[in-house]
This record gives sequence, C-alpha cells and structure tokens, in this order.
Amino acid sequence: MKYSCNIIKDLLPLYVDNVCSAESREITEQHLAECPDCRSYYSAMTENGDTFPVLVDQNMEQKKAQSFLAVKRKFRSRQLLAAVVSALALIAAFFLAAILLSSYKKAVVFDDNISVSMVDGSLVERLKGSADVMVSIKRIEAENNGKEYVYLFFCIYDTKWNELVTRKNVFTEKVLCPKDRGADTVDAVYYFTGDTTGMENMSYDELQELISQSVLLWSR
Ligand SMILES: [Zn+2]
Repeated sequence: MKYSCNIIKDLLPLYVDNVCSAESREITEQHLAECPDCRSYYSAMTENGDTFPVLVDQNMEQKKAQSFLAVKRKFRSRQLLAAVVSALALIAAFFLAAILLSSYKKAVVFDDNISVSMVDGSLVERLKGSADVMVSIKRIEAENNGKEYVYLFFCIYDTKWNELVTRKNVFTEKVLCPKDRGADTVDAVYYFTGDTTGMENMSYDELQELISQSVLLWSR
C-alpha cells in the first residue's frame, strides 16, 4: 500500500462528498480495493447517513416540494375566493340592472296597438304589447254651455325591463272604468301620453287643447 490508512481516512470525507481531486479519488479507490479495514470504515461512514450528500439533498427537495404545494394550495384557495366574489358581484349587478330597468317607465306610443271598448257595461282597454304594463287613468269632468262632459284620459306605461326581456305582442286587457263606477256617464276616452298635472282644474277650452294632442279611442 502506497499510502497509510490515516491518510486515506483523512481523504474519505472528501471522497464521500465528491469534492476531492481525480488523483485523490484514484488513490482512495485503489486503497479501498486493497484494505478491508478502510473499506469497513468507508461503509460505516456511508451507512451513517450524516455525511451522505444525496440524502441531505432529498430532504431539501422534499421541503421545497412541500412549500411549493403550500403555495399552490394557498393560490388555489385565493382563486376560489376570487371566483366566488366575482360570481356574487355578477349576480348583484344583474339584480341592480333588473331593478333599474324595471323602474325605468316609458309611455307606450300609440300605433294602432291600443283599443277601448265597452264590455258588459265596463270600459276596457286592450293592448297588444308587453304582458306586464301599468295604466294610469284620469277621470275629468268639464262643463261647456251648461252641459256636463266626462272624459277619461289614460296612458299605458311599460318598463325597459319588459322591452328587453318579456314577450312582446301579447294581448292584455285592463278595466278603465267599471260598470258600477259610472262607465255609462263617460262621453269619451282618450289616450294621452303627455303631462297630466293640473288636468283636473282645467277649463273646457284648455281641455280641448289636450284633446287635440290625444288619440280618441272611444266615444259615446
Ligand atoms: Zn487502510
């Protein structure tokens, strides 16, 4: 043996860690092949694990993988939270839009789509349009040359929501004046989409002005 066991034992840690020179490696391997004493020393060293570099690396890799998984899990739960939040925001926006569109009332324009008729003593309007509409009615009494006149002015309101969402060209009917509320005293029914404020106190002549802007749908 060219080198003493003590020199080889000094070299072995470097050999195990794979940080020795090629020459030292060769010397160590040659010695290990010839010396059973150093071989058992070497195998005791590698079985121990402390100085086994690969094992340390494995632990490191495991730790890295674990922390990566933790980050991934955290990221996933954040993604889920973001998805839930945006879904809720979308639902809220939808309801807000529905409320806004439902509150946006618009007078239905007369286009031969509305008619009025006397049905069993009651005055009834009939609309071809949205199924769910609102009707506002004004009963106006006016006097001219000692004669009393009773007019009904009505307007049908639709919402933007109906316009966008509900079925169109559906026939709906609403009673404008029931039989027991003096339908037989009404002289004429007008469809009027303009401003009705102060209509109750208008003179006969002022009413004629509104009538000229209205559509006569029924008269006695
Ligand atoms: Zn030896």
